[in-house]
Amino acid sequence: MDPLQPIRGTKDIIGEDQRRHSHVVTTARATAATYGLDEWTTPIFEDTRVFARTLGDTSDVVTKEMYTFEDRGGDSLTLRPENTAGICRALVTNGLTQSLPQKVFYAGPMFRYERPQKGRYRQFHQIGAELIGPSEPLADAEIIALGWDILNALGIAHDVVLELNTLGDAESRAAYRAALIGYFSAHRGDLSRDSQERLEKNPLRILDSKDEQDRALVAQAPTIAPFLTTAAADFYRGVQHQLALFGIPFVENPRIVRGLDYYSHTAFEFVTTRLGAQGTVMAGGRYDGLVAEMGGPPTPAVGWAAGVERLAMLLPASPPAPQPVAIVPLGDAAAAASIGILQALRHAGVRAETAYRGNLKRRMERANKIGARAAVIIGDEELANGVATVRDFASGTQSKIALADLPAHLATP
Ligand code: ATP
Ligand code: MG
Repeated sequence: MDPLQPIRGTKDIIGEDQRRHSHVVTTARATAATYGLDEWTTPIFEDTRVFARTLGDTSDVVTKEMYTFEDRGGDSLTLRPENTAGICRALVTNGLTQSLPQKVFYAGPMFRYERPQKGRYRQFHQIGAELIGPSEPLADAEIIALGWDILNALGIAHDVVLELNTLGDAESRAAYRAALIGYFSAHRGDLSRDSQERLEKNPLRILDSKDEQDRALVAQAPTIAPFLTTAAADFYRGVQHQLALFGIPFVENPRIVRGLDYYSHTAFEFVTTRLGAQGTVMAGGRYDGLVAEMGGPPTPAVGWAAGVERLAMLLPASPPAPQPVAIVPLGDAAAAASIGILQALRHAGVRAETAYRGNLKRRMERANKIGARAAVIIGDEELANGVATVRDFASGTQSKIALADLPAHLATP
């Protein structure tokens, strides 16, 4: 029988891949905690309307990428393509809209029906951060600072550039939208079919198009700067001022619009040149309209999401494989006594393993195979004297250690 295969665009994360993945998530979680964020976990599937209503009906995610299905009860459900909508749904349904600010960290799998390639999968993982409540530019800068600190803690900040833009307020965007319609209408025939449709519904979206020909037109398109209201321009300057106080370098990129409809004011991406076309590792912005669209009161918010697989690929080195201690009993009496020793080590926080069978040679081979840093050998003679022979593989030395002293002796590698 042919073995069953994983679904296209999904992958098993094992061994070194998993160590990289875990390192990214653990580092991000710890850094987010220093900023006062609490972790939330929301369901991986939601009522389809949670996304369809909010992400925008011309976004790639909603038009082409969602895994939507009817469950046995006839409800339309969608595997979450991102987590911000779910967090805002949770804010409203848990009655937290009057307990602001809420500072949220999350980590978990997301699902998008995309063409799989390096750094682009159908099930992938994101870490993300949201500051829900504050409307001040300080919040935008603080959430960016968190992202920057995570990239630093991972050792990849020097490979990444922060690109910053503003999408203005509603009034700015309406004026900009009219200008974009004017510009792109004059080149209508050169636009991709998708972008011709975007032209009617949401011309800003064309700026985010991945189509080659669209991109050439986008390069010449008007920018939002001349259309910003005084308030929107002040806000943007405020964010830049706060970023300077945090000491975070950035470049302005007027083409950043973000792929989802719920953004306003600040939009940003951390971009690398090291991952080919999949160069955006962390992206976000301000989404003051989203909570209201979810049925809550108008609530300002700003946040970002980052792709764990992309960050994991950029790590300068793999986290080392763990080096256990191997317990090697010789004979039945020692085998029985070794259980207590094994558990004492584990309870002291030492990674300790024992083979399930075999003579001394086999067990030492096994210790080598699992990359053990030391073997604890216990035979009849050791048992009688209340000691173990500890062989340190790094130094090649061997010494007798009292059984009671083993946990302390082996606690730090
Ligand atoms: P892209 O332009 O690469 O399609 P996006 O704008 O769709 O990205 P966001 O919705 O902003 O991405 O998601 C935030 C981050 O999640 C991205 O910057 C990226 O690191 C990661 N990401 C998005 N889609 C995928 C995917 N299919 N596979 C792996 N990582 C992804
Ligand atoms: Mg995308």
